[in-house]
Amino acid sequence: MKKILLAGGAGYIGSHTAVELINSGYDVIIADNYSNSCPEAVRRIEEITGKSVKAYELDIKDKTALETVFKENKIDAVIHFAGLKAVGESVAKPVLYYRNNIDTTLSLLECMEEFGVKNIIFSSSATVYGEENPVPYTEKMKRGTCTNPYGWTKVMMEQILEDAANADKELSVVLLRYFNPIGAHESGKIGEDPQGIPNNLMPYVAQVAVGRREKLTIFGNDYDTPDGTCRRDYIHVVDLAKGHVKAIDYILSHEGVEIFNLGTGTPYSVTEIVETFENVNDMKINHVYGDRRPGDLPESYANADKALEVLGWKTEKTLADMCRDTWNWQKNNPNGYKK
Ligand code: NAD
Ligand code: UDP
Repeated sequence: MKKILLAGGAGYIGSHTAVELINSGYDVIIADNYSNSCPEAVRRIEEITGKSVKAYELDIKDKTALETVFKENKIDAVIHFAGLKAVGESVAKPVLYYRNNIDTTLSLLECMEEFGVKNIIFSSSATVYGEENPVPYTEKMKRGTCTNPYGWTKVMMEQILEDAANADKELSVVLLRYFNPIGAHESGKIGEDPQGIPNNLMPYVAQVAVGRREKLTIFGNDYDTPDGTCRRDYIHVVDLAKGHVKAIDYILSHEGVEIFNLGTGTPYSVTEIVETFENVNDMKINHVYGDRRPGDLPESYANADKALEVLGWKTEKTLADMCRDTWNWQKNNPNGYKK
C-alpha cells in the first residue's frame, strides 16, 4: 500500500483529503503542529474511515523532527498543506508567514532528498495569478503580482519547487492551485474550524447562522460585476480532496512539473452565496453592505479544463451541496472541534 505523508494533514483541506485517500486504498501519515487544527480532527478521520491513522505532532520547519517521520515510514509521496493562510494576518506579520511557509517547504524538500522521496504535491492558490491576469485563469498564464505576503509565499514556493524539479529530473512536482474551498464532509464530522473571527466568507456565514456572530458584512457592492458584489469560484472541499487523490494517482507514474487549477469554472457572487445558504437551509442570514476590503479582486475563477483532460477530474457537487454541508457541520459542531 502506497504511503502518503500529509504535512498539515489535520487542517481543513488535509483532513478531507486524508479521508478520500484512505477510501481510495492509500495509507496516510499526518504530520502537524496543530497550530491551526487539533488532534480531534485526526480522531474524526478515523471515525469516518474506520481505519487508524498514524499522526506525528511536530513542526515541519524542524528538520530533525521531520527526519524521524521519514526514517520510520517509507514515504511514496508528500502532500504539503502545512502553511499559514490568513491574508490579513500575513500583512501584519509578514516575517512569520515567510518563515513558516518557506521553511516548511525547504525542510520537506531536504528530507525528501535525504530519503530518496521523489513526489510532492503542493497546496497552491489562485492568488498566484495576481492582479493582471484576466479571468478565467489558465495554467499557462504567468504568475502575477500579489497584493499580500501570503500570496507571495505561494508564488515563492511554486518557484522553489520548480527549481528543485529542474535540478533533479527524477523529482515530480504537482502544483494544485485551489480556488475557494467551502463545505464539509457530508457526515458533519469534519469541517472548517477557524480560530477567532473568520476571515473567509463561508465560515463567517456559518457562524452567523449558528448565532456566534451577529451579522455578516458584505465587503462592497459597487464592483463591476452582475450584482455589484465580488465573484469567486467556490469548490466543495470533498471535490477538492478527490482532486488530490487524482493528483496522487498521476504523480506516482509521471515525472516533471505540472500545474492544475482545482475549481469548478463557475463564479458565484457574495450575494448569491448568502441567498443560496438561506434557501437551502431555510433560514435568514443577517447581513449589511460595507466598504470594499483592500486587496480584493472583483472576480476570480478557473478554467478547469486541464484537470479534466489530464487527471480525469471534475467537480460533482453543487453550490447547494456546499451550503447544506457547511451548515450540517456547523450545527453539529457549533464550537468547531471544541466540545
Ligand atoms: P488549515 O490551516 O486548516 O491547515 C493547515 C494545517 O497546517 C493546519 O493543521 C496547521 O496546524 C498546519 N501547520 C501550519 N504550519 C505548520 C508547521 N510549521 N508545522 C506543522 N504543521 C503546520 O488550512 P487549509 O485551509 O486546510 O489549507 C491547507 C493549505 O492550502 C494551506 O497551505 C493553504 O495556504 C492552502 N490554500 C487554502 C485555501 C483555503 O481557502 N482554505 C485556498 C488556497 C490555498
Ligand atoms: N467577504 C465578505 N464578507 C466577509 C468575508 C468575505 O463580503 O466577511 C467577501 C470577500 O470580499 C470576497 C468573497 O467574500 O469577495 C470571498 O472572500 P474569502 O475571504 O472567503 O476568499 P478570497 O477573498 O480569498 O477569495
